[in-house]
Amino acid sequence: MRTEVPRRLTILGSTGSIGTNTLDVVRQLGGRDAFEIMALTGNGNIELLAEQARKFGARLAVTADENRYAALKDALSGSGIAVAAGVSGLDEAAGLDADWVMAAIVGTAGLAPTLRAARRGANIALANKECLVSAGELFLDAVSSGGGLLIPVDSEHSAIFQCLDKSQRHALERIILTASGGPFRACTREEMAGVTLQAARSHPNWSMGLKISVGSATMFNKAFEMIEAKHLFGVRPDQIEVVVHPQSVIHSMVGYVDGSVIAQLGVPDMRTAIGYALSYPVRSALDVERLDFAKLARLDFEAPDETRFPALRLARTALERGGLQGAVLNGAEEAAFAAFVAERIGFLDMADVVEAVMDQLAGLGSAGEIADVVQADAEARRRARDVVSKMAAA
Ligand code: NAD
Ligand code: MG
Repeated sequence: MRTEVPRRLTILGSTGSIGTNTLDVVRQLGGRDAFEIMALTGNGNIELLAEQARKFGARLAVTADENRYAALKDALSGSGIAVAAGVSGLDEAAGLDADWVMAAIVGTAGLAPTLRAARRGANIALANKECLVSAGELFLDAVSSGGGLLIPVDSEHSAIFQCLDKSQRHALERIILTASGGPFRACTREEMAGVTLQAARSHPNWSMGLKISVGSATMFNKAFEMIEAKHLFGVRPDQIEVVVHPQSVIHSMVGYVDGSVIAQLGVPDMRTAIGYALSYPVRSALDVERLDFAKLARLDFEAPDETRFPALRLARTALERGGLQGAVLNGAEEAAFAAFVAERIGFLDMADVVEAVMDQLAGLGSAGEIADVVQADAEARRRARDVVSKMAAA
C-alpha cells in the first residue's frame, strides 16, 4: 500500500455532499501539506468547482457536462489548472496518478471513472455504492487486479469495516445494518402515497444529496446497502440483517458466532467515515461533534416493515437471483427516482416500477464483462420508463 505524505488525492464528484465534506476533511487533516489534489470533478456547479480547484491547487478540474467546458475554462483562466469535460474528461481525471481516489459521483455515472481508477491500482475510498450494486464481483475484480485498497465510505459499511477484526473473519456470523427509517418511518402506506418531493428529501438525521435522501425515504438506499455489504464483506444474503434505529447513532454492527455484537457509534456526520478512509490505516483527529450519552439518554430499535418499504424485499430478491439483478435494480430505481422528481409518478409507485422491471428481466443471468452491466442498466432504464409511461397514462 502506498501511504506517502502528501497523499495524492482525486475526488470524483467534489461538488456534491460527500465531495464538499471530503474537502472539509482534507482541510482539517492539513490541507495542502497532507494532500496533493490531482483532480476534482463536478457537473453543473461550475462556480463551486472552480473555487475548490483554486483553493486546493488541483492540477485538473473536470465538468461532466460538456456544455459547460467553456464556462469552466473561463472560470479558471490564468490559474494554470488544466480543464476537461465530459466522459473523456472524467476518464482523464480517474487516470491521473493519484494514490487515493474518493469515488463520490452519484449513480452509475460514477462506474466508469471509478473502474478506471481501480484498474490502475488507486486506493479507492468508495462512497459511490452503485459501483458495487451494479457491477458487484466485476468491480471487486478490477480492484484486485489493480492491487489497491477498497475502503468503504458509506457510514454503515465504514462501521462494519471498523468492527470487523480481520483475524476473526472465520467467526463472523452476521452483519446488522442500521437504518434510520427515513422521514416516513411512522407513516402508513396511505399517508406515503401522496407525499411530495420536498417531504421525501427531508431526512431526519443526515444531510445528504437529493438522490440518497429520497432513497432513505423509500429505503432503496438500505436495499443498495444490503447488496453493497454482500460484496464488500463476502457474506451470504441470510447473514445480512436490517434493523431500524431512528437516532442513527449506531452506524452498524457485526455479530460473531459466540454471540458477541460489536458496534461502531458516532454522531451522524459523514466526515468521520471520510476521514477514516482517507487516513487509513491510521486514525486522524477530526473536529466533529462528540457523542454525549447522557444527553442521548436512549437508543431505539424496531424491525423493518417490508410491506410499507418493499425496497428491502426487492433487495433480498436481487440477492437471491444474483447475476445482473443488482444492475437491474439500480438502473430501474434511478429511472423511477427521476420520474418521481419530475412528478410523473407518486412516491409508492417507485417500488412498483422497480419490481416490475426486475421481474421482466429476472432471466438475464450474470455479467461476464462490464459491457453486460452497462447493457443491463440501459435495458432496465428503458423498461422502467415504459412502465412509468403506462402508469402516467392510466
Ligand atoms: P450529490 O448529488 O450531493 O453529489 C453528486 C456529485 O456527483 C456532484 O459532484 C455532481 O456534480 C456529480 N455528478 C452528478 N451527476 C453526474 C454525472 N452524470 N456525471 C458525473 N458527475 C456527476 O450526491 P452525494 O449525496 O454526495 O452522493 C454521492 C455518492 O455517495 C452516492 O453514490 C451516494 O449514494 C453516496 N453516499 C452519500 C452519502 C451522503 O451523506 N451524502 C452517504 C453515503 C453514501
Ligand atoms: Mg449509508
